[in-house]
Amino acid sequence: MRHFDYSRADSVDQAVATYAQSDAASFLAGGTNLLDMVKIDIMRPELMVDIHRLGLNNIETLDDGRLRVGALVTNTALARDATVKADYTVLSEALLSGASTQLRNKATTGGNMMQRVRCPYFRDGVSDCNKRDPGSGCSAIGGYNRSVHAVLGTSDQCIATYPSDMSVAMAAIGATVSVTGPDGSREIDFLDFHLLPGDKPWEEFALKDNELITHVTLDAPIQGAKSAYLKLRDRSSYQFALASSAVIVSLDGNTIRDARIAMGGVATKPWRAKQAEDALKGQPATEQTFARAAQIAMQDAKGYKHNAFKIPLGQQAIIRNLTTLTA
Ligand SMILES: Cc1cc2nc3c(=O)[nH]c(=O)nc-3n(C[C@H](O)[C@H](O)[C@H](O)COP(=O)(O)OP(=O)(O)OC[C@H]3O[C@@H](n4cnc5c(N)ncnc54)[C@H](O)[C@@H]3O)c2cc1C
Ligand code: SF4
Repeated sequence: MRHFDYSRADSVDQAVATYAQSDAASFLAGGTNLLDMVKIDIMRPELMVDIHRLGLNNIETLDDGRLRVGALVTNTALARDATVKADYTVLSEALLSGASTQLRNKATTGGNMMQRVRCPYFRDGVSDCNKRDPGSGCSAIGGYNRSVHAVLGTSDQCIATYPSDMSVAMAAIGATVSVTGPDGSREIDFLDFHLLPGDKPWEEFALKDNELITHVTLDAPIQGAKSAYLKLRDRSSYQFALASSAVIVSLDGNTIRDARIAMGGVATKPWRAKQAEDALKGQPATEQTFARAAQIAMQDAKGYKHNAFKIPLGQQAIIRNLTTLTA
């Protein structure tokens, strides 16, 4: 057991100031990922700043139609919110497909976005892993890389999938992340928040030192659109995605007016498939159109020894979701 200090903050400014006093601080939200990481000795905070009392628990519709979600709204509260269920069905379904009821009751919006990868070589604490120990190598590339390893957005330094279901839905919807740090507040496009591994896989998020996520604001819903989250996995609950798709689609008769697609389980970050969306717009809602879009979505995919099956599986996640939504 390693020693750490604990401090409970009563305001955003106090949380940021307290955090900045330590070189090894962590914000403590639901704790379902952080405490896991501490127990297996992968994260070693010397100070935990508890942010439960910051009052960031509200979900509110803004005048421009966007939905502002506090960073401490739990996954359960967000999934069950009446506006989210009606106007952002894909988000509600993505949240309810993740973890378990008990975990979702504790897990928060900010913490979910910031969860760490599930790669077993990262978590075992001893294997070579560039994410945990920069420059040591990547045990997954030549090792066992079936379920939590990616085919899109990989580099020769890291191929771990990004695990959050919620973030995949948010990537499809479009959102802005509000953060506050010692230099004030700023906003980050949700699609820029999670970083590709590139040659620095240990840099995972676009946060600067000592910044706290305060809100995520979802783009206004597309009028008349339907949306759904489809998660394909080894067992049907309490399991991370092998491939998932978040799809939002609106039709004019049988013609696709607008479409948004994001993918999970196959990529190193929430993966927005904009070229596939373009291939759908203005086209008839047919299986042929969906297959073409799915092929485009995965056209840059690179399979590794055990996970090449994710390329057709990812395509099927898109085709099935579109087929059901437009039936
Ligand atoms: C057994 C198990 C199964 C799971 N299955 C799934 C699944 O199928 N799908 C899925 O998506 N997830 C799954 N999860 C992950 C779960 O969703 C995350 O653990 C949870 O969302 C993290 O939220 P939290 O509030 O508990 O974060 P914490 O554990 O409190 O924090 C996580 C990280 O975020 C940082 N952080 C938290 N809030 C902020 C903030 N406001 N600003 C800046 N940094 C912050 C913390 O410092 C920490 O580094 C699973 C977890 C477990 C344990
Ligand atoms: S895939 Fe990434 S997290 Fe896994 S061993 Fe390689 S560098 Fe580490």
